[in-house]
Amino acid sequence: MTSTPRSTPDTDGPDALRQAGLQVTAQRLAVHRAVQKNPHALAEEISDVVRAEIGSISRQAVYDALNVMSEKGLIRRIQPAGSGARFEDRVDNHHHLICRDCGSLVDVDCAKGKAPCLKADNNHGYVIDEAEVVYWGTCPNCQTKPKK
Ligand SMILES: [Zn+2]
Ligand SMILES: [Zn+2]
Repeated sequence: MTSTPRSTPDTDGPDALRQAGLQVTAQRLAVHRAVQKNPHALAEEISDVVRAEIGSISRQAVYDALNVMSEKGLIRRIQPAGSGARFEDRVDNHHHLICRDCGSLVDVDCAKGKAPCLKADNNHGYVIDEAEVVYWGTCPNCQTKPKK
């Protein structure tokens, strides 16, 4: 396992929520923890983790917590083509490598660091703040599988 640098290393749990301007609740804390432990998990997967931990929370409440935390920038929501929404607590400008065969997904640091990391040929007068970069390919595992 390689460890990925976090943009907010010291903001755990309650502090992170407070800094994002969110009221601290046990449910939100549990959802945030689940995202930290399961980067790039689907909303349903996070919901399963949280419900296994605290039980008394509806799926909808988990989804609501995910949405509000994404809106506040505490977690990031990504939705690659063909996948449901996934969540991660790494919110710096980084990209994803996705396997076309098995759908596995890993982080890849941005070569440039700051968004937008691609310069548009013509910005048509828009102020561009992000270029969404997704790398698609075949993961090492799938490369060794016999071709269909
Ligand atoms: Zn694969
Ligand atoms: Zn990521």
